Amino acid sequence: MIVRLLRYTADPELLCGTAALTSTKSGSPSEILKDMNLDTANRIIRRVTGYGHVSVIEHASFTFSIEGVSRAMTHQLVRHRIASYTQQSQRYVTYDMFEQCVTPPSIADRIEAKKIFEETLEKSFKTYKNLLELGVPKEDARFILPNATKTNIIVTMNARELRHFFNLRCCVRAQWEIREAATEMLRHVKEVAPALFENAGPSCVKLGYCPEGKMKPHECKIQEIKTRFQSL
Ligand SMILES: Cc1cc2nc3c(=O)[nH]c(=O)nc-3n(C[C@H](O)[C@H](O)[C@H](O)COP(=O)(O)OP(=O)(O)OC[C@H]3O[C@@H](n4cnc5c(N)ncnc54)[C@H](O)[C@@H]3O)c2cc1C
Repeated sequence: MIVRLLRYTADPELLCGTAALTSTKSGSPSEILKDMNLDTANRIIRRVTGYGHVSVIEHASFTFSIEGVSRAMTHQLVRHRIASYTQQSQRYVTYDMFEQCVTPPSIADRIEAKKIFEETLEKSFKTYKNLLELGVPKEDARFILPNATKTNIIVTMNARELRHFFNLRCCVRAQWEIREAATEMLRHVKEVAPALFENAGPSCVKLGYCPEGKMKPHECKIQEIKTRFQSL
């Protein structure tokens, strides 16, 4: 899996700080932005979002390229509605190798499981090819492709939605592949806009407790998770 931050709103913190001050200052947003500096922006963002006025951070958007992930992963990703997506289309792209699949570690680590997994993939891809050769269009032949099939997707989210996404998808309760992608996305945005993503990560990082209660059978260690995400 490769996760790249392709583009993001210029000076995201200065812009969101300006938005936060616009409601209480008599000057115009353009004047406020001209005088804005990072210290002031970060302080005001922390204060205003602390009140729960989180809409000010919607002005900053981040666009990622997520490459070589499974369709199983992107199906979960696109459930997040406050976002824009563009995904590689199975109506146009032909899949010819069963290696174009993601193998979950729980399968890759077990010799027998890996063997039957790969045999089944090979069979699916052979059928897919046969269907194409019989003149079945790609959009129909793809019905035989597995959830493991690799795909590429572009996603754009604003900082508010990203924080919500990280709450849900960086958590150990989330499936491993979307959790890896979310954690990588968080690492990227923290580099370019640390104030907007302070205490971002699974809900427990900010709350100090898990809103979903104890996790069974293995309880996760909130303090360890907090430390890991705060130093990401
Ligand atoms: C661990 C885990 C397990 C899951 N298991 C399942 C499962 O078994 N089956 C399943 O179907 N899904 C499952 N999901 C997906 C989950 O139900 C949500 O669809 C997904 O996480 C998107 O979250 P969301 O709706 O909060 O956020 P987004 O779509 O990202 O929206 C963000 C926020 O905007 C607001 N919002 C967006 N749209 C509306 C709307 N139409 N009306 C009102 N408010 C809105 C809400 O406050 C929402 O929280 C799972 C998710 C996780 C993290």
